[in-house]
Amino acid sequence: MIDLDKHWESKNKMTEQKYIALIDCDSFFVSCERKINPRLCGKPVCVVSGDRGCVVARSIEAKEMGIPMGHPLFMAKKEFPDAIYINSNLYLYSQISEQVMNLLRQFSPMVEVYSIDEAFVDLTGLAKHYKKNYYNLALSIREIVAQEIGIPVSVGVSRTKTLAKLASDKSKTTVNHVYIAGRCGITRLLKSSEIGEVWGIGRNLEPKLRGHGIYTAYDYAEKNDTWLKSRFGKLGLELKYELLGNQIHKISDVIKPPKSIMDTKSFPEFSTDINYLKNELMIHIHSACRKLRKANCKCKTIGVIIKTKDFKTFCEKENLEHATNFEFEISELAIPILEKMFNRNEIYRSVGILLENFKPCDNEQRSFFDNSERREKNEKLAKSLDKLEAKFGRNIIKTGFIGKVDYKQDFISKN
Ligand SMILES: [Mg+2]
Repeated sequence: MIDLDKHWESKNKMTEQKYIALIDCDSFFVSCERKINPRLCGKPVCVVSGDRGCVVARSIEAKEMGIPMGHPLFMAKKEFPDAIYINSNLYLYSQISEQVMNLLRQFSPMVEVYSIDEAFVDLTGLAKHYKKNYYNLALSIREIVAQEIGIPVSVGVSRTKTLAKLASDKSKTTVNHVYIAGRCGITRLLKSSEIGEVWGIGRNLEPKLRGHGIYTAYDYAEKNDTWLKSRFGKLGLELKYELLGNQIHKISDVIKPPKSIMDTKSFPEFSTDINYLKNELMIHIHSACRKLRKANCKCKTIGVIIKTKDFKTFCEKENLEHATNFEFEISELAIPILEKMFNRNEIYRSVGILLENFKPCDNEQRSFFDNSERREKNEKLAKSLDKLEAKFGRNIIKTGFIGKVDYKQDFISKN
C-alpha cells in the first residue's frame, strides 16, 4: 500500500507545490448558442453537425431526456421531438473560445489552450497574489468568466495536469463546479476515479488494466515502477508519477500549429452541378486559408474531397510548387483536381478541402524562380481580407466564384 502522505512529505521538501487548473467550459457549443439566444436557457438543446449530421453537444436538459451523444439527427428528431436542434456554428464557437482564453490569460501568464473549450492554467503562487485561497481563486475565475463572457465553466485544481483533468471531471458534479485536490485530497480523488476516467487511458487499455486488477486511478498509482515500465513503457510510468502529484507534463503556452486543416460541409440539397461544387469548394478554400493564416502557416499539399449521395468518399491530393496560404493559389490547383474527379453520372452530397504539409510563415525558403511580386501582392490582399472579415463578419467577401448555378434545375431533392 502506498502512503501518499509520506510520499508528499518527502517530495515537498524538494519541490514547489504546483497548483494546476483545468478550466472546462460546460456544454460549450450549447452555452455559445445560449449566449446569443438566451431564450434557449433552461431548455433541452442539442447542437448538430449539419442537416444530415448527428448530435455533437447537449444541454443538461437534453442529457436528462436521454438523448445520446453522436445520435443521428433524423433519429433524435423522431425519438425526442421536444428537444431543440441547432446547426453547429464553429466560427462563433472559436471566437467565443478565444475570448475565454484571453480572459484566462489575465489571471495567469501560463495558459495552455488544450482544446476549443478547455485550458490548463498554472495558478501556482497566485493565491498569495490575489489574497485568496485556491478554492476561492477558482470560484472567482468561474464567476468572472460567467459575468464577462456569459459562458459557464468548471474548474478542477490539483498538482499535475493529469490530476487537474480528474478534478475537473469531479467539479461537474459539485454545486459550485469547483473541485480542489491539494495534498490531502489526492488519495480521495484517485480512489473515486475509475481507471477509464484517467487522461490518456483509452478504450483499448481500460479492459487490459482491469484484467490486471486495476480498477481505479489509485490502483494504478499503487503498482510498482518496474511492473508498470515493463508493461506500459516510459509513458506508463510517467502516468503513475503524474497521478502521485509529481509534475511530468509541463504547461506549455506555445501555440502548436495544426497538422492539417479540413473544411467541408454537406450541401443543403444533393447536387449534380459542377459549378455548384466549384462554388462550394471556393467557400471552403477561403475558410481553410483563413484558419491557416491565423496559425501563421502555409501549406505545401492540398486535397480535394468529394462525397457522393451514397457516402462514397474520394480524396485527391497534390503538392503545390511553393507553400502558400492564399486562396487564389490554392484554387488554381484545386479546381482542376475537382474537374478531374467529377463524374457527371454521380449525385454529390458534399465537397471539401484538405490542407496539409504545413510550414511556418516565418522561416520560409523562397525559391529563386518565385514570382515574389505576385506573392507579395497576394499576401497583402489576404491580410486585407482577414481584417475586413474580422471587422464586418465572416464571408462578407466572396472570392473567385466560378459560374452561375441554376439552383432549381440542378439540385436533386433529398427526398
Ligand atoms: Mg467542455
